[in-house]
Amino acid sequence: MSRVYNFSAGPAVLPEEVLKEAAAEMLDYRGTGMSVMEMSHRSKAFEEIIKTAEADLRELMNIPDNYKVLFLQGGASQQFAMIPMNLMKNGVADYIITGQWAKKAYQEACKYGKANKIASSEDKTFSYIPDCSDLPISENADYVYICENNTIYGTKYKTLPNTKGKTLVADVSSCFLSEPVDVTKYGVIYGGVQKNIGPAGVVIVIIREDLITEDVLPGTPTMLQYKTHADNNSLYNTPPAYGIYICGKVFKWLKKMGGLSAMKELNEKKAAILYDYLDQSRLFKGTVVKEDRSLMNVPFVTGDKELDEKFVKEAKAAGLENLKGHRTVGGMRASIYNAMPIEGVQKLVEFMKKFEEENL
Ligand SMILES: *Cc1c(COP(=O)(O)O)cnc(C)c1O
Repeated sequence: MSRVYNFSAGPAVLPEEVLKEAAAEMLDYRGTGMSVMEMSHRSKAFEEIIKTAEADLRELMNIPDNYKVLFLQGGASQQFAMIPMNLMKNGVADYIITGQWAKKAYQEACKYGKANKIASSEDKTFSYIPDCSDLPISENADYVYICENNTIYGTKYKTLPNTKGKTLVADVSSCFLSEPVDVTKYGVIYGGVQKNIGPAGVVIVIIREDLITEDVLPGTPTMLQYKTHADNNSLYNTPPAYGIYICGKVFKWLKKMGGLSAMKELNEKKAAILYDYLDQSRLFKGTVVKEDRSLMNVPFVTGDKELDEKFVKEAKAAGLENLKGHRTVGGMRASIYNAMPIEGVQKLVEFMKKFEEENL
């Protein structure tokens, strides 16, 4: 068996320890004689799994009691519709467009009410975060929407927008649990787990209780109402049980690693190795404005398409996988989520140095 360093943007690398534990429990989960994949979601064993997962997540993020934690399906993309359907009481919401995911969320919201684009960084291929200190927030906006870490473009909000008192809704798919957050600053925090937490198929929604009401847009399906899932502790129907089980293991792993402050420190250290090299390289350059750089997704280019392709191919042969950039940015992208060991980033930079010497 040999594992590669997997720089995929998602689904992405998971802690090896977690995978090994899951493998050991595959045929017989703790004396139940069955896999978690095979057990009832109403069983004692699974009840314990989901309850522990929620408790650990609450502890990691310091989630206040007046927030619900929901384990849902449909991916982050389903939230693009669920958010306006549940939150647009006035039928108005403001969107800040910092990349494709924010744009898709905005386009979806346009189907359900008046969605306003109040800021955008599309003019420079989303390579920066716009100044959000004094935006034209709509007077009757039900919420202000952001994508906090832009997976494709490699930008991250370093300060949250001034929403002028309006509810903040954030897609944190690609920065989930990468650093401490103040949950009280948000109405809704949500993310697909396949970037930084677990296997595809689970989306976690952390939502302030007063936002969970029966007053949703007419025709909103039962399954797309937050209240349905909140009232039933994410067990209204069969949840993505195996995925939740793996997420739970990752939460335990994060606690063992020292929690989110320790992860932030480690993530900063990892990202610095790559950014410091990029800043002095004569071949590679980062594509993002320095102050808005993501700790999780690092896009870079040589400026020569053929050389980029050669790099991706040779890196793969050296055990450094999935470094091809998104088609809208080109070049390369290294996603260095929580579970990417520091050795992986060191190996990548060593490889880049060698490639630079050989190709300059
Ligand atoms: C990947 C991603 C999505 C889409 O997630 P799905 O689970 O595939 O719907 C949305 N937002 C962000 C920030 C992402 O990185």
